[in-house]
Amino acid sequence: MKKITLLIACLGLMISCNEASKKETEETPSETIQETEAITEKEPTKPEETEIWEPIPDKVNPSAQNGAPSDALVLFDGSGFDQWISSVDSTEVKWNLNDDGSMTVKDKTGDIQTKKNFGSVQLHLEWRSNPDNKATNQNRSNSGVFFQNRYEVQILDNNDNPTYVNGMVGSIYKQAIPLVNPAKPTGEWNAYDIIFHAPEFDSEGNKTKAATLTVLLNGVLVQDHFELEGTTEYIGWPKNEAHGPAPIKLQDHQDMSGVSYRNIWVREL
Ligand code: MG
Repeated sequence: MKKITLLIACLGLMISCNEASKKETEETPSETIQETEAITEKEPTKPEETEIWEPIPDKVNPSAQNGAPSDALVLFDGSGFDQWISSVDSTEVKWNLNDDGSMTVKDKTGDIQTKKNFGSVQLHLEWRSNPDNKATNQNRSNSGVFFQNRYEVQILDNNDNPTYVNGMVGSIYKQAIPLVNPAKPTGEWNAYDIIFHAPEFDSEGNKTKAATLTVLLNGVLVQDHFELEGTTEYIGWPKNEAHGPAPIKLQDHQDMSGVSYRNIWVREL
């Protein structure tokens, strides 16, 4: 009896060993990969191993040009419209140049746009609603800044002036409602700081990467890396026709808006 028990125990041990060996063989390839990765991605043990010293970023003076960074292109500093043309006929700008270093939309003279074309940019722009404009809804101090002539970040006086929220101040017109409304009271200066990444298209004209907009209004985030669906249309759905670099445009809403602008600068990304 003892012999039979011993034999069964030995057989059990052999089967168990065989299975363990088989399992070991099956696991070998992945274990080898893990071991290789462990060697190449060895946990650093010294602080120097995770330090990067080059390339050194260019030094920029953040307020070298009357408040604009040293590497920015100043688009408007109050001295004139050198960087701008009329969007209507590419002639000189007809808007009003003011003594305080600002400019004001001259009604029904049309939009104005930069002479230069831009791709992805960081833009700073200050604007003020017109205290004499008592209109309602979309007609109270309506203007806007368009990137690549197609994508509008809305400018509107929404102080005690409700409108559709995807068309209010801080919105990406008819596409993105602002996260909050940090606009100043009517007639005070506001500042937009906007990061625009241009859309990309393949050789057949298909969009391969959506444009994005990050917008701060008076230092407060109102659009957080929003992916645009296409152009910001007044009527209809967004369009996605292929295009390249294009001007930055400021809107004449043609309703006595009286919106003013000052201190506009751009950094190409
Ligand atoms: Mg507008």
